[in-house]
Amino acid sequence: MARRRLVYEGKAKILYEGPEPGTYIQYFKDDATANNAEKHGVIDGKGVLNNRISEHIMSGLNAIGVPTHFMRRLNMREQLIRACEIIPLEVVVRNVAAGSLSKRLGIEEGTPLPRPIIEFYYKDDKLGDPMVTEEHVAAFNWASQQDVDDIISLALRVNDFLSGMMLGVGIKLVDFKIECGRVYEGDFTRVIVADEISPDSCRLWDAKTGRKLDKDVFRRDLGDLADAYTEVASRLGIMPRNGGRAAAGPKLVH
Ligand code: C5P
Repeated sequence: MARRRLVYEGKAKILYEGPEPGTYIQYFKDDATANNAEKHGVIDGKGVLNNRISEHIMSGLNAIGVPTHFMRRLNMREQLIRACEIIPLEVVVRNVAAGSLSKRLGIEEGTPLPRPIIEFYYKDDKLGDPMVTEEHVAAFNWASQQDVDDIISLALRVNDFLSGMMLGVGIKLVDFKIECGRVYEGDFTRVIVADEISPDSCRLWDAKTGRKLDKDVFRRDLGDLADAYTEVASRLGIMPRNGGRAAAGPKLVH
């Protein structure tokens, strides 16, 4: 048996070298962290749920012409992805006030925003991912102006697509974070959506009851995180409602 080459290990995922040049395998772990890893837990089945939910969202984006790094799911915890040069920004889109925006500006959580707000955070764990403006992005050459324009347009398209997908299953998309990467195509570069889009990186509230169905359940100790993620997966038609954490782990529906 040959050992796979590990390319990068993050808090919730591992990247391995892929079967062909220009590909990676993205492995979803069960680890959950919050507040820049101050809080850590292992939630049985979370990696399986996020692999499947992220697949569902990214394949939908690919299908409507929003380019992503997702190629195909390989198994319960792994997906094949296109290698890209990660742009060191976390791009947050907000529809409703919550989390750090509410704290920073004193706006009550749940207040609808007059328009989607896009924010950039510089990806650096040591600095705690500080918020930055387009001025910083340009001055420090983290991305070109063309990249920034492309990132904003991708982020807004993801927002519209994901808001509609979630609304269709009775869930309000409060906010989310994406990461983007650059791929080289002949003489051109293209910006694509990378990383994952899952309840780890979105705020998802039940449209009727306001129940939180995302990582805030872990961050704020509100109950069972895997139950919340299973609820999202089952509403999206990916997992059976009782498929949460049976002895054999979450079951996939094909
Ligand atoms: O904490 P904050 O309110 O800024 O988070 C905004 C959105 O970005 C939330 O959906 C959160 O889950 C996501 N996020 C993330 N990774 C981070 C910071 C925020 O996925 N490092």
